[in-house]
Amino acid sequence: MTIADNISTIRARIAAAARAAGRDPAGIRLLPVSKTRPASAVLEAASAGCTRFGENRVQEATGKWEELAEDHPEISWAIIGHLQTNKARQVARFASEFQALDSLRLARELDRRLQNEGRGIDVLVEINTSGEPQKSGVALDDAVALCRQLGAFDSLRVRGLMTVALNSGDPSPVGACFQRVVDLQERLRDEAGGVSDWGELSMGMSGDFELAIAHGATTVRVGQAIFGPRSYPASA
Ligand SMILES: *Cc1c(COP(=O)(O)O)cnc(C)c1O
Repeated sequence: MTIADNISTIRARIAAAARAAGRDPAGIRLLPVSKTRPASAVLEAASAGCTRFGENRVQEATGKWEELAEDHPEISWAIIGHLQTNKARQVARFASEFQALDSLRLARELDRRLQNEGRGIDVLVEINTSGEPQKSGVALDDAVALCRQLGAFDSLRVRGLMTVALNSGDPSPVGACFQRVVDLQERLRDEAGGVSDWGELSMGMSGDFELAIAHGATTVRVGQAIFGPRSYPASA
C-alpha cells in the first residue's frame, strides 16, 4: 500500500463513520500527521490532495518547512504537540495552526512573537481529558478560565478544542474522553461570552478516529494509518 492508497482508505473510513453518525463527511477534516517521516513522504501525501500536515516537534517541523517552502508554497503546517514557551518564536515564524495551547503564559508569548512577525495563527486549546499526568493539555477544571482569557490576543484565532484520548483498546473510556470535550464545548457556549464560534473539535488518531467522529470530531489527526508504523511512540 502506498501513502496515496492509505489516504484514500482513510477518507473512505471517515466518510463511512460520518454517515453512520448521521453527519456530512465534508464536515470532517483529515490532518495527516507526518512526524518522523521525511519530506518526501509529505510530498507523496500532498500529491494525494493533502496540503496541511501535523507535526508534534517544532524542530522537526521547521526542517521540513525549510525544505519544502520554496517549491511547495501550498503546503502548510499544524503544530499538534506540547510547546515550551522558548519555542514560540519558531512556531510564530511559519506555522499556520497550533493545536496544543494549554496555558495563558504560552498564549501571551505566542501572541507577542506573532505580533513581531506580523502574522496570525489558528489555535485550538488542548484539553487533558484522560487525567493522566504525563499528558499535556489544560486540566478540564481549568479550561473555562483559560478559554475566557484568550480573546485578548489579537493574533490568536481560537477555533476550538483538541484532545488526545486515553490510549486503550476499550472504546468506553476512550469515548468518555471525547465526550468530555463535547461537554466542555457546550459549557463554553453557555458560560464564556464570545466563544460561540469555537466549532472545531480535533480528536481521534489512527486507532480511534471513527469513535471520535461518532462523538462529533471535526478534525482527525492520522499518522501511522497513512505513513506506516513509527519506530518511537506517538507521545515521545
Ligand atoms: C502522533 C500524534 C497523532 C497521530 O497518531 P497516530 O497514532 O500515528 O495516528 C495525533 N495527535 C497527536 C497529538 C500526535 O502526537
